[in-house]
Amino acid sequence: MNDRTLRLYDPHAYLREFDAHVLSCEPAGDRYAVILDQTAFYPEGGGQPADQGILGGQPVLDVRERPEGLMHFLSKPLAKDSLVHGAIDWDIRFARMQHHSGEHIVSGLVKHRYGLDNVGFHMGSAAVTMDFNGALSADMLEEVERLANQVIYQNVPVEAAYPQESERATLDYRSKKALEGNIRIVTIPGADRCACCGTHVRHTGEIGLIRLIKAETYKGGTRVSMLCGLSAWQEARTQALRVQAIAAGLSTAAVNVVQSVQRLKEELAALHKKNQTLKTKVWMLELNQAEPVNGWIIRFEDDLNAEDLRQCCQLFGQKTGRAIILSAKIADSREEVPMEYRYAMFSTHDDARAVAKTFNQRFAGQGGGNATLVQGTMTGLKREIEKIIIDGL
Ligand SMILES: [Zn+2]
Repeated sequence: MNDRTLRLYDPHAYLREFDAHVLSCEPAGDRYAVILDQTAFYPEGGGQPADQGILGGQPVLDVRERPEGLMHFLSKPLAKDSLVHGAIDWDIRFARMQHHSGEHIVSGLVKHRYGLDNVGFHMGSAAVTMDFNGALSADMLEEVERLANQVIYQNVPVEAAYPQESERATLDYRSKKALEGNIRIVTIPGADRCACCGTHVRHTGEIGLIRLIKAETYKGGTRVSMLCGLSAWQEARTQALRVQAIAAGLSTAAVNVVQSVQRLKEELAALHKKNQTLKTKVWMLELNQAEPVNGWIIRFEDDLNAEDLRQCCQLFGQKTGRAIILSAKIADSREEVPMEYRYAMFSTHDDARAVAKTFNQRFAGQGGGNATLVQGTMTGLKREIEKIIIDGL
């Protein structure tokens, strides 16, 4: 780390504005890289994104640690040796301090309770993700979430210090890699001790709320998504509004929404079964009056799913051994408009695949099946599709 710049954010994470002298300003691609004698802008590092804000009247595009020093990237140059004013975007920074501190608590608890290491940490635009090198069940995560929120209520201090190497050797702390030299150790009593150069809240109470909103298997371990503070509240609020909207749609109270949805699913399944029975009855009645054309029965149906289409086709196919059933994907009664149809083709006399090929070539179709039954899609005018049968295949 180049030490030409005094890092004000290290001892003073709550510093929002500062004045600094421009030590250098060099072109860097289509931007300018500015090095200051001191800064409150946190550079990207340790999973925490770079601070945003204003420097010398310009938006700061990025802040990075480079071999040459801590660089602020701007779209226009700043005069060397000039005194400039900097202001970080505090809302964004404070939310990151809440999330970063929350990450320490959760990772520390997972380590102590379940022996798993945090092997990856990313603070994106939405939720923070933490990757742990082992499985974490829903019950384990609920336990961690509960304990993490207790650490918030206890409002313990978040302490940062640079212990002597001899003292550090006696400390049990988390670190992703072996470290040497002047190491910053961040301690949250009762929850975590970790080597970290990021920005944190002063007391855990400022995190407000920790919610573990998602867990998924990732690289043989578990990726956990977390929200803290206002973001956690906002997400809970959005979820509550969704549940209320569902409850209103079901004319029930939010507390009954799970049972209501379950009942609705059962009713829907019963109706579907009844509908199937009725459809089959109608087809059986119409089967007696169906007049084959050139040995084929061709029918246009409304809105049949693939399974219904197959059943209908096999039923009518049994009459003459040949049937084509088409169902428009979108109901439209206009005869002059080419329609996109789902189709099923059944034949015990011909190879159904060869017949389907004729239709597919003529009506931009596609489909697959066996020698007896083919299902697919085609697009065309009803009368032109019928004409293929009338004219004879
Ligand atoms: Zn940290």
